[in-house]
Amino acid sequence: MALDKTPEPAPPHQMDCEAETAAEVLFVCRDEACGRRVVVGKRQPRLTVIDRGDWHIPHVGSLGGLVIDGVEAA
Ligand SMILES: [Zn+2]
Repeated sequence: MALDKTPEPAPPHQMDCEAETAAEVLFVCRDEACGRRVVVGKRQPRLTVIDRGDWHIPHVGSLGGLVIDGVEAA
């Protein structure tokens, strides 16, 4: 019998679309203590981090056909 010390991966934060233009989407983390904000380009895959928030935690979000997954800090 061994102690179960397997480190659990942090559950990903969910990001919501807060603003949108023809070219870009602003995603904001639902976790207020985190406050991560990123702008994702629609026409070309581009990610701009505005606020890093808890950058070590995976962030996922989706908007129609646009999905961001496992976004890393730029
Ligand atoms: Zn977050």
